[in-house]
Amino acid sequence: MIKRSERLNNVSYDLCGPLYERAKELEVLGHKIIKLNIGNPAPFGFDAPTAVTEQIIRSLSQAQGYSDHKGLLSAREAIKRYYTAKDIKNIHTEDICLGNGVSELIMQAVQALLNDGDEVLVPSPDYPLWTAAVRFAGGKAVHYRCDEEADWYPDLNDIKSKINSRTRAIVIINPNNPTGAVYSQELLQELVKLAEEHNLVLFSDEIYDKILYDNTIYTSTATLSEEVLCVTFGGLSKNYLAAGFRAGWMLVSGAKHKAKAYLDGLNTMASLRVCSNVPAQFAIETALEGEQTILDLTLPTGRLGQQRAITYEKLTAIPGITCVKPMGAFYMFPKLDVKKFNIESDQHFALDLLIEQHVLLVPGTGFNFQQYDHFRVVYLPEPTELSNTLDRLTNFLKTYQQQ
Ligand code: PLP
Repeated sequence: MIKRSERLNNVSYDLCGPLYERAKELEVLGHKIIKLNIGNPAPFGFDAPTAVTEQIIRSLSQAQGYSDHKGLLSAREAIKRYYTAKDIKNIHTEDICLGNGVSELIMQAVQALLNDGDEVLVPSPDYPLWTAAVRFAGGKAVHYRCDEEADWYPDLNDIKSKINSRTRAIVIINPNNPTGAVYSQELLQELVKLAEEHNLVLFSDEIYDKILYDNTIYTSTATLSEEVLCVTFGGLSKNYLAAGFRAGWMLVSGAKHKAKAYLDGLNTMASLRVCSNVPAQFAIETALEGEQTILDLTLPTGRLGQQRAITYEKLTAIPGITCVKPMGAFYMFPKLDVKKFNIESDQHFALDLLIEQHVLLVPGTGFNFQQYDHFRVVYLPEPTELSNTLDRLTNFLKTYQQQ
């Protein structure tokens, strides 16, 4: 018997978990499944800006060799310009590292920081890679509450009550996946203050920082303090609709003088995987400094703006469902009236929906949410398909009673 590593105990990623495997089995049987399990824009007819794809094609012949382990200098310089324009101070290209998507960098950043038993404050609900990364690194993911009654804002008192001598970092996902919350400067300031007081690293996952609705003002955490060590994550997957290219980056800023050993650890982690996908690195400068097609898409008349409106309207019209309107990203995290539907397991609910309606959703517990009364909707399908999918959910819930 070949056993798996014990490090993988309690490590999971339900976006591609057992429900997804079941959906694939149904596809093999010839059923068309509407897969709303993952935020992957391309299969829903979203294209990366033409300049980005053309740049990759043009660069292929120059991209045959490894790059520097932190990535091409030209890409890192473009990232530096991007964050300097946002007003993050004192950025050096050596503090920027490119990765095969933000996913790889999250694993690296967490593994370079934690010793066994160290704690990281992770939001609940979260993008589940964060919890998985902390556990895989031997750490303990301590979940802090995001409050649905307060537009899914982090509960500061809950965070305060969970900081102890083992706490090493706070994870902030802003704009948030799965809730769509976008945090105010005041809230971020409070989080920065806590990190400063307790000497914690701030991991600020800002991969959706251009996907904002209703003129929402956005603040990057690292602009708020030079006294705290902040690691900011960004990439091409969402803002540039290019998830398949696997292009992400992280930027370390703020109290770097207190973190020489950690920076050295990050450097080692980057060198161990030699470098990230080089053709995609060539596209970063073009993306950041070219046409920002995502901005039109998020307007009320743009595709994402329209799909957000349809989803919110249709979801909130279903008896037994309530939902906070998202201000960023492309997800909603609605609440089910568990009494009305007799729900005792959200996994069971999602499985019933998949089998009966061929719609694949990820239930709330897949996002490390403790209650079993939520699920996430990815509102990427074009308006007609989206309406049709939400109608299927509506019909399903008209008579649904969990057995
Ligand atoms: N962080 C968040 C909050 C996400 O939603 C995702 C993808 O859905 C990622 C990170 C990973 O993105 P990628 O690895 O494609 O850059």
